[in-house]
Amino acid sequence: MSQQENPSSLRLQILTCHLAASSRNMASEKEAALAAVPSDSRTIFDKIINKEIPAKVVFEDDKVLALRDIAPQAPTHILLIPKVRDGLTGISKAEKKHCEILGRLLYTAKLVAKQEGLDDGFRLVINDGPNGCQSVYHLHIHLIGGRQMNWPPG
Ligand code: AMP
Repeated sequence: MSQQENPSSLRLQILTCHLAASSRNMASEKEAALAAVPSDSRTIFDKIINKEIPAKVVFEDDKVLALRDIAPQAPTHILLIPKVRDGLTGISKAEKKHCEILGRLLYTAKLVAKQEGLDDGFRLVINDGPNGCQSVYHLHIHLIGGRQMNWPPG
């Protein structure tokens, strides 16, 4: 059994994410979402893409949707998501066939950063799996900016 399949190990990882989130004063919505278990089922992003629930969309084309994060971690915090998940529950599931959409997401991040006036820089983040504190299993890139970032990340 892999570490990720072991329920005790997974609970420990979720708790670790929870504590890390608390120590950084992250929103409780985020902490609750960290209880998510890796899965292929529909996510909240499908509902946003299908306009079943509202979102603050800042960019949309035929392949990519960019929306403001509901629990922003910086003055600008935008999520870039592929409109069709096509098995991309996370970046660790990427296959060669996904190269085009992955490149498109990165290029769109640059366009949106420009649109948001992030001329002094920004950060792109992809969380993956329990250790990466991923909470929504539909690949997305966080575009974060509007303040000085720190390194190393939490
Ligand atoms: P991750 O933890 O990397 O999987 O990121 C998921 C992100 O989705 C978190 O930053 C959440 O705040 C964000 N999020 C969850 N639900 C919504 C929503 N309805 N609208 C906008 N952002 C959301």
